[in-house]
Amino acid sequence: MTTLVWFRQDLRTEDNPALFEAAQKGSVLPVFILETPEQSGETHPMGGASRWWLYHSLASLKASLSGLVLMRGDARHLIPHLVREHQLKAVYWNRCYEPHAIERDTDIKASLKDAGIETRSFKASLLFEPWELETKSGGPFKVYSPFWKAAQQKQIASPLTAPENIQFVNTDAGEDLESFGLLPNKPDWAAGWENIWQPGEEGARKRFRAFLDEGLQGYGSLRNRPDLPNVSRLSPALHFGEISPRMIWHETQKHMTAEISAAPDGVKFLSEIAWREFAYHLLYHFPHLPSENWKPAFDAYPWREAPDDLAKWQKGQTGYPIVDAGMRELWQTGYMHNRVRMIVASFLIKHLRIHWKHGEAWFRDTLLDADLANNSASWQWVAGSGADAAPYFRIFNPITQGEKFDPEGIYTRQWVPELENLATQHLFAPFAAPPEALQQAGIELGQTYPKPIVDHGKARQAALEGYIAVKEAG
Ligand code: FAD
Repeated sequence: MTTLVWFRQDLRTEDNPALFEAAQKGSVLPVFILETPEQSGETHPMGGASRWWLYHSLASLKASLSGLVLMRGDARHLIPHLVREHQLKAVYWNRCYEPHAIERDTDIKASLKDAGIETRSFKASLLFEPWELETKSGGPFKVYSPFWKAAQQKQIASPLTAPENIQFVNTDAGEDLESFGLLPNKPDWAAGWENIWQPGEEGARKRFRAFLDEGLQGYGSLRNRPDLPNVSRLSPALHFGEISPRMIWHETQKHMTAEISAAPDGVKFLSEIAWREFAYHLLYHFPHLPSENWKPAFDAYPWREAPDDLAKWQKGQTGYPIVDAGMRELWQTGYMHNRVRMIVASFLIKHLRIHWKHGEAWFRDTLLDADLANNSASWQWVAGSGADAAPYFRIFNPITQGEKFDPEGIYTRQWVPELENLATQHLFAPFAAPPEALQQAGIELGQTYPKPIVDHGKARQAALEGYIAVKEAG
């Protein structure tokens, strides 16, 4: 029997249930389909950085699965067409949870079933299906801590091995990866990224191993330090499914057993993996999460339309060094450290009073790990409008956040080199530095580095006043 395996956000061979089951039964036709947003029905299309990652991830998958067929078009038409053309009897895939994907997959499943084709979908990109965990009263979780508590009580199945000696179907279908047009040119803003990142299953495995050996120790507290290498940077690999969360779960547990001192850090790491699960849980049960305030009272907030300020934020020209460092790290590498994501997001929403949707869109275009569930849940978390969100009155102070989490200024100087020679005590507020300190460091505010686009104290006050409208609406 031949089975079509439809690859989507599961670009790996290990612990890939759809591929594993299909290979057990006989020959396999592995297919990846690139759809336009019109074809897929996506409301929040993939951005440029993700397309760069996808190109390299597909190249890596093709190197391990020589029979992989790459196609462009509407999956609703292409899948049944391939089934007819190759007289297939079965189609398998691993589940996706974005609202448009659920709708599309449901349609395809129904039409294949009508045609008498065996159609099976599997759990591969999450530890828990969004419907597997529920509150005591039977509904979805809206708060993370009880969700995590319930998660820890569940058994997690062991990961599957990669199938060996897969028999591929001979086919003329498909086109080459270049024709997908995924890579940037004119200008190639991703030049050099292949020296920083290794997309694909092998790269993900290496990164995870290196993290367990070198980064996990101390993760619990050091994960907040953007100047230190204590986070896994696995987020793009998790988004594209190059690494299985089940494998991460079991390998981390094994590591904790072998090195007892790593146990608290290991639990903390798994609890972050569970934040990803929580975001998917929310997206599944509240599909409006990416486009609407989860708490409708936030519709009353008096947002500013301020395209010039938004552009300065995007370019890392706000005059607040920790914010500018984060935004430049993002542009130059496709990644930003979690602590700094929270600081820059708070700055956009609270200091500039620009709607979180503008931040979500910029992150979606520039992050290699852009992920509908994580990105929208996180933006709403910072805004205060989301589930179990940060309280609206928590307004990160970009000066003290810099001092606390980048104490020697190493991270900030790396991304804002024009401040390289400024003493650390003035680094996070150059506008308050004495003129001689600026002169000594070769800085002329407004010339070599911007003056702050808002005054922290006044911006904070204005943000809090804006929330009066939310409170009244709530
Ligand atoms: P690690 O600390 O090593 O964590 C391991 C994994 O756990 C991550 O790869 C990720 O899959 C998951 N994780 C960790 N923290 C969170 C979190 N707070 N929420 C959900 N999952 C988490 N993450 C994305 O994957 N895609 C996004 O588009 C995204 N947008 C964000 C936007 C904002 C405004 C903020 C504040 C956070 C966002 N995050 C997003 C969450 C988090 O910042 C990243 O997952 C994390 O920084 C990735 O780095 P890492 O793999 O080194 O993390």
